[in-house]
Amino acid sequence: MNIPFVDLQAQYRNIKPEIDKAVHQILDSSSYILGKAVKDFEAAFAKAHDAKHCLGVSSGTDALHLILWALGIGPGDEVITVPNTFIATIEAILLVGAKPVFVDINEGDYNIDTTKIEKAITAKTKAVLPVHLYGHSCDLHPILELTRKHNLWLIEDACQAHLAEYNGKKVGTFGIAAAFSFYPGKNLGAYGEAGAVMTNDSELYIKLSKLRDHGQGQKYFHEYWGHNYRMEGLQGAVLCVKLNYLEEWTKVRRKNAQYYNHYLREIPEISLPAEMPYAKHVYHLYEIRTHKRDELKTYLEGSGIATGLHYPIPLHIQKGLSCLGYREGEFPVTEKVSREILSLPMYPELTEGQISYVCNSIREFFQR
Ligand SMILES: *Cc1c(COP(=O)(O)O)cnc(C)c1O
Repeated sequence: MNIPFVDLQAQYRNIKPEIDKAVHQILDSSSYILGKAVKDFEAAFAKAHDAKHCLGVSSGTDALHLILWALGIGPGDEVITVPNTFIATIEAILLVGAKPVFVDINEGDYNIDTTKIEKAITAKTKAVLPVHLYGHSCDLHPILELTRKHNLWLIEDACQAHLAEYNGKKVGTFGIAAAFSFYPGKNLGAYGEAGAVMTNDSELYIKLSKLRDHGQGQKYFHEYWGHNYRMEGLQGAVLCVKLNYLEEWTKVRRKNAQYYNHYLREIPEISLPAEMPYAKHVYHLYEIRTHKRDELKTYLEGSGIATGLHYPIPLHIQKGLSCLGYREGEFPVTEKVSREILSLPMYPELTEGQISYVCNSIREFFQR
């Protein structure tokens, strides 16, 4: 049996007539940039998260950059985040000229260790930028207590956490603003590059809207200089259609995670992902851990099963970020997790039969 890591074609086949119609409407109306489809999507995505404002942008990376830029974070400022994330989180901080300051993760949900944040706060700290990694919310309550106490911004990287919840409330609405990604493989994926900023702050929203479009509110009246971070009409149209399915797809992802948990529960050599009492996990990725990670990955490949590594090299020891001055050994939990973690196939189109095949192959590997 061949099981891909994600199956975007299977998803398209299921919704093809609706997608094709929406795409043709864009082609017929030539509204290639922003326009009605993007506006409709922004309203629907904000509503789905019980947020006031959503701004469609060109990618998740750009969403993060735009937030930091609009808040006036820049040279001389520090932003606290984690080394166990996709590099885009760090790039956004570097792009505004600020300094990323890392805090290690915890072994429970692999998100920021909230007990280590306060030690990293200095007079230069402007914001805490936690990442809801793999679709599991960070423990936001202690983070909010710290950001209030020290007068810092909380910015959420929710790029992997569409519809995820913290204590019954959607993530993306806890801080001043949040970034979402619609990279094709994300839980809600565009057919190209796209992202969004979410905020409940109307003043910030207006500033973000202008910066997204060359600093103009009205054409050729540039209140600031900004950049071109506009969402394409085609992406807005695709996302409008797919958003209608997101809740159902999220349910199926959670059910698939339960199948995995069930079939893998009696294999002592692996540990399964935790779902903390405060979190509703949306399983962008399903992560297991084992000391034999690399051998298991190769074995599964031999059985036709594709897996992923998120992430194999922590950011503090990436060559391209050596400018930050960190050294190996500084974030032991992140480093340990990076050697043991393995992402199994996870998407709504995955069947119980496929999941049981993956789990049987894992059991076979440990019984050899
Ligand atoms: C995908 C992702 C991003 C970047 O999103 P793009 O749309 O690919 O630019 C940022 N942060 C995290 C945690 C991500 O997973």
